[in-house]
Amino acid sequence: MLEKMEELNHEDVIKEFNSLTKDAERVQVETLRRILEENGNAEYLNSFGLNGRTDLASFKACVPLSTHKDLEPYIQRIADGDASPVLTGKPITAISLSSGTTQGKPKFLPFNDELVKSTMQIFRTSYAFRNREFPLKNGKALQFIYGSKQFKTAGGLPASTATTNVYRCSQFKNTMKSMQSQCCSPDEVIFGPSFDQSLYCHLLCGLIYREEIQVVSSTFAHSIIHAFRTFEQIWEELCTDIEEGVLSSRVTSQSVRNAMSRILKPDPELADLIRKKCKGLNDWCGTIPVIFPNVKYVYGILTGSMEPYLKKLRHYAGTLPLVCADYGSSEGWIGANVNPKLLPESATFAVLPDIGYFEFIPLRENPEDQKPEKTAATLLYSELEPVGLTEVKVGEEYEIILTSFAGLYRYRLGDVVKVMGFYNSTPKLQFVCRRSLILTVNIDKNTEKDLQLSVEAASKLLVNESIEVVDFTSHVDMSSEPGHYVIFWELNGEAKEDVIAECCNCLDRSFIDAGYVGSRKSNAIGPLELRIVMKGTFQKILQHYLNHGAAFSQFKTPRFVGLSNGGVLNILTDNVVKSYFSTAFS
Ligand code: AMP
Repeated sequence: MLEKMEELNHEDVIKEFNSLTKDAERVQVETLRRILEENGNAEYLNSFGLNGRTDLASFKACVPLSTHKDLEPYIQRIADGDASPVLTGKPITAISLSSGTTQGKPKFLPFNDELVKSTMQIFRTSYAFRNREFPLKNGKALQFIYGSKQFKTAGGLPASTATTNVYRCSQFKNTMKSMQSQCCSPDEVIFGPSFDQSLYCHLLCGLIYREEIQVVSSTFAHSIIHAFRTFEQIWEELCTDIEEGVLSSRVTSQSVRNAMSRILKPDPELADLIRKKCKGLNDWCGTIPVIFPNVKYVYGILTGSMEPYLKKLRHYAGTLPLVCADYGSSEGWIGANVNPKLLPESATFAVLPDIGYFEFIPLRENPEDQKPEKTAATLLYSELEPVGLTEVKVGEEYEIILTSFAGLYRYRLGDVVKVMGFYNSTPKLQFVCRRSLILTVNIDKNTEKDLQLSVEAASKLLVNESIEVVDFTSHVDMSSEPGHYVIFWELNGEAKEDVIAECCNCLDRSFIDAGYVGSRKSNAIGPLELRIVMKGTFQKILQHYLNHGAAFSQFKTPRFVGLSNGGVLNILTDNVVKSYFSTAFS
């Protein structure tokens, strides 16, 4: 009903959310029933003897927890053209590619209209809450969004990233219009064949419509940073285009040029104004509000692996609020940000109880797991039986299990979340990290979050040097005995040798996990190595992923690069300018 409305009635949306969350338990049971009813004939479910039953007890008794690996053969059959009810009652009509950051190659996932519906529902919900705090007038959004290439699977299904699948559908445009968040760039720019050309045109459109821009956004914060770093390099060229009304020859795609020619007209006055504003900026601090004077907030996923970019984002955003976007994945949506005023560091996501059936595996630090024979997957936590959405406890950490309308049943998403409180009876989750361990040599266990904290602590030592860590990743080097952690840093300038050496020691000391500290002291793990890579190395990594079919909109820098991700490891290794070994434990 809401989809057809031009103007979104915020209070109605909030009322709808309130009524859904008042009795989240009942809504969950009902949602599971609907999922199982719609997909009662799915081969996957029947292989476990569910035989059309739709109650929670039978579901949990029959259907086991699953991972992408378990579902891969089923998804592959669908991609290869099997139109029988494999995972879902109705045939799957498209395939989504997840960003595949960790494995180095995208995963195939089923995509259908239900995912579009829940995407719109979550967008509307968080927007309604956002608009209460930061009301928008009629205007436009400078959205750094990029459709990725679409291709056909062997069975003829269109395959693309989940974000592209969403951007392409008409509901997306209607919803954005009703949210006064219509992208200022034409579709040809969003779906342009070259990412660099699209970015150039997004910036150009933003400048042309600068007075109307009310929101600057992207899916992940990384894209906003990338866009403004690029702006620092090319603002003069953009101004020349505006002055002359002629698009730079760097944009070669004819469809993009045609679309831009409808927007770009000679405007020397605007060009002059932007030049003055750019020249008046000190180190590009506050670029966003200076160049786009009517922006109300900067919006995107700013949590989890995006947190390291917050400092730079604040630099560009000045005093503008940074508002966190919702929490979801290519597999399905999970929660909406209904407290938009919270800082990104403490943002939470209220689970929508009717978009899927959610279970939570309680995760406890396990003293038992100090035994070295445990595998990486089970090393970190002890596992208890999954609990339901309304059974989670405040302050506890859980791994999320998703049952969706798109053919995923008791699917382990691999994310760790912490329950921070409740909105009515649905939990508000904070994203903690990906579940998988990234750094482990023997009994040590460090996650992406541990790495992030360690980098955060060490990079503070660079502040006096006015140097920043542009990006970072890690690796475990087992090629010599004992194995050791390797951290790769790209810096935006040259820091003094002794400062970097101290950063290296600080990194080593900041991994406070008992297994690590103990192993370092006994030299069962060698000194941590900090490898400084050339400027632009992470740009090459991004390009590597784009060349292999990843979408910029969903790109997340891999925070760990294993031997299986040889392409990226080679880029890193080839670009090392200097390496330092910690002396923290000597
Ligand atoms: P993708 O594989 O590209 O679909 O990315 C999905 C993953 O991105 C999730 O499983 C999370 O790990 C991460 N993610 C998505 N939304 C958020 C968020 N709001 N905060 C932190 N991490 C997120």
